[in-house]
Parts: sequence; structure tokens; C-alpha cells
Amino acid sequence: MIAILKQSASDEAVSHIVSWIEKKGLKTDVSRGENETIIGLVGDTTKIDPFLLESMDVVERVQRVSEPFKRANRKFHPEDSVIDCGHGVKIGGDQFQVIAGPCSVEGENLIRIARRVKAAGATMLRGGAYKPRTSPYAYQGMGPAGLDLLCEASAELDMPIVTEIMDPRDVQVFLNKKIDVMQIGARNAQNFPLLKEVGKTKTPILLKRGMSGTIDELLMAAEYIMSEGNDNVILCERGIRTFETRTRNTFDLNAVPVLHHLSHLPVVADPSHATGYTRYVEPMALAATACGANGLEIEVHDDPSRAWSDGAQALTPDQFDDTMRRIRAIREVVFQETME
Ligand code: PEP
Ligand code: MN
Repeated sequence: MIAILKQSASDEAVSHIVSWIEKKGLKTDVSRGENETIIGLVGDTTKIDPFLLESMDVVERVQRVSEPFKRANRKFHPEDSVIDCGHGVKIGGDQFQVIAGPCSVEGENLIRIARRVKAAGATMLRGGAYKPRTSPYAYQGMGPAGLDLLCEASAELDMPIVTEIMDPRDVQVFLNKKIDVMQIGARNAQNFPLLKEVGKTKTPILLKRGMSGTIDELLMAAEYIMSEGNDNVILCERGIRTFETRTRNTFDLNAVPVLHHLSHLPVVADPSHATGYTRYVEPMALAATACGANGLEIEVHDDPSRAWSDGAQALTPDQFDDTMRRIRAIREVVFQETME
């Protein structure tokens, strides 16, 4: 349920209503937009009489929200959320960002790749130090030493880093190292203890859609994080498992406009994991840009044939240069934006 307040509602009137609602055992989520203030009621709304609420002086109207996700819901928060990822980089609304880097942090090649992706126009650096691998015998990641390499690259290049967290027990390590954005991978999209734990921080979370997850399940995963107090969630479409076997996954680009319709959170698209093959990454990166993604996540490696993971889908730095040029062209044509 949401209460849309009259434009004239004073701060005092808003806090009066908020405490009235909270006394009934519900939580509130107040969104102050330019034109209206909306109070989202979270919890058991059967305890509230909507007619009584609507009869209050400052209330314009009360609306039921049928979807089970509340804080992620655009009805609660009509304006796009813009999330500050550090180093002056914001994502959401008309702020478009490209996250690029290797699948895994492997060693000193990270800084070389990082310099190239930055020069090409990427604004955030990715790299996995903890890798969720299907086989326990496959490379599992460098761990804390990998995080240190990412932090060094971030300091040299003044760009935020995005790196995956797999275990709730590692949250403190990520906080101590001041990791800019924590990624929750597809395999952990319904790891509820992990979602709750990162929800207790204020660090932006790049939340990937589960391998066979529906759009609603992705939004409910976001809701887990937000219900603990962290509103800095970036949704990520990375392809889903279907009967198609020619590509690693099926890139569900429908999800981009659907998520924008349902939610105010920024939406990133990952054409690397969605396709699984270098040759398909650029065309699908362009398609994702054209359909309104707020950002892209693209894997880049300086020597893909020797990459420790996901070499088959990595772009070389030269290929990434070309792809970035075309992404800029799409942004210009479709969104009249001039990227630096
Ligand atoms: C990754 O980003 O390297 C990764 C493992 O992605 P996903 O969780 O989407 O498979
Ligand atoms: Mn990968």
C-alpha cells in the first residue's frame, strides 16, 4: 500500500503520518520527489484501514500495491534511482556506465587490462577475486590478494571496482578494503543469508539475475537487500538458461524495459555471460544499450586464450576499443548523449 501525499504536506505532517503507521507495527519508506511525497507501507497492511488513511488532511490518495516487492517498486519511488558508486561515478537515470575487466583477477595483467579499458572509456573496473565455479576443481580465484590488486588499480586509475562476494562471512573483508561495488553472482541470486548480510551495508550491490530466475525473483532478491536498509541495488540481466544451446545463455533483453517499468533501480546488462562467445558480445552490447540499459558489464582480457576463466567470451582490448566506439554512437543516436 502507498499513500500519496498532497503537494503542500509539511515535514511535520509527514512525520506525524509516518509515526502513526509505524505505531501499527509497519515499516515505512518515504520517497520525496519533486512533485509529490509518497509513503510506502511495508509489512502487514491489513492492520491499516485505507479509508481512514485517505481521510487524513495531507493524504491525496491511497493505492494498493499488489506486487510483493515494495522498496524496489517504482510505484513507491516514481523517479529513477541514481546510485553513487564512488570516484564520482553514478549510475541510473540518464547516467550510463560501462563496467569492464577480466573475468578473474589473475595477477599483474590486471593493471594492464585496467589501463586499456579506462582509455577506451570504461568507467568502472571489474574482476573476480572469489570465483563461483561449477567444478570444485576449477580455478577458485585469488581471494584477498586479488582484492588488493583491484584496490591498487582503482587507486591508480581513480575508478570504482566491482567484484563478486560469495560468502556472508567475507562482508567485513570487503568493507575493510573499501570495495566500491559488491557483485552478487547468478549462482547466489537466491542465497538469502548473503543478500541479507550485504543489505546491512551501504555498499552498492550489482545483483545478477539467477540462472533460471524470473524477473520477479530478481526483484524479490533486490527486496531482500533493500529490506535490510541498503537501497543501493543495481539489477543485472546476464542471460537465462533456456532450451537454446547455441549460446551460453539466452539474453533476455525484454527484462531491461520490463525492469524499468516495474522498478526504479538501475539496470545493467551483461552481454558476455549472456552469450558466452566473443563474436556475439558486441552486437548484443549494442542492442542492450539501444533498449535502455543504464550500463553494461563486459569481460576484457589481454590474452583470452590464456585466461583462467571465461576466455571464450572475452574481448581483447582492441576489440573493446571498437565496441566502445559503437556503444557511444548508439547512445548518441538513441539518447542524444555525448559520452566523453
Ligand atoms: C562473472 O561476472 O564473472 C560471473 C561469474 O557472472 P554470473 O554470476 O553472471 O555467471
Ligand atoms: Mn565470467
